[in-house]
Amino acid sequence: MSTAATTGVKYSRVMLKISGEALMGDQGYGLNPPTVARIAQEVKSVQEMGVEVCMVIGGGNIFRGLAGSAQGMERTTADYMGMLATVMNALAMQSALEQLGVFTRVISAIPMDQVCEPYIRRRAVRHLEKKRVCIFAAGTGNPYFTTDTAATLRASEMGCEAVFKGTKVDGVYDKDPKKHADAKRYDTVIALARDNRLPIIVFSLDEPGGFRGILAGQGTYTRVQG
Ligand code: UDP
Repeated sequence: MSTAATTGVKYSRVMLKISGEALMGDQGYGLNPPTVARIAQEVKSVQEMGVEVCMVIGGGNIFRGLAGSAQGMERTTADYMGMLATVMNALAMQSALEQLGVFTRVISAIPMDQVCEPYIRRRAVRHLEKKRVCIFAAGTGNPYFTTDTAATLRASEMGCEAVFKGTKVDGVYDKDPKKHADAKRYDTVIALARDNRLPIIVFSLDEPGGFRGILAGQGTYTRVQG
């Protein structure tokens, strides 16, 4: 089996964070199976480079706690619903990866033994060593957090060298570049990963082969210094 050292990639273990919305394609809600399959293919191609891959997927395509509480729902209940949404997305990604022959584990911060594994750090590390893609679900398991925090947390716990944040655009902009032609891309933005000394690399998931290219040091991205 190839390893990062033999394929010349400078990362051996990474976290890929994608928002729930990345899975909905052009739909306004939910999951678009061809989009999920396309992202699974991106993950597979990176895994084939010998890189151990962790994933955190948001839940915003199904439910966001803040939106629920804005409609009068109790905030923590709404946040738990958001966390459950991330489990559905994780299962969809697991299914798509396994159809491509990639071994995976869904690991939930909220135990639900009939559905997926509970989070046990050492066990998750072992899965990675065995080249299984670990999809961390249910965020941090706590309300009032986001899946970006969960990705940074799990990446730190797993000893990832960087968090790759796949978005619909290829970097961090001062305004939405799809709406504003003069949007400026920040080349270096200092943010939440600083405390964990983890670089966050923001790139566009819309480019086919984009994830693999970024790992190989190509393409456009924004590195948020860790
Ligand atoms: N959430 C939470 N704790 C966590 C992670 C997520 O309560 O540790 C809830 C929160 O309500 C959030 C929802 O899950 O709105 C979906 O996650 P997020 O908004 O981060 O998804 P994304 O925007 O990445 O799709």
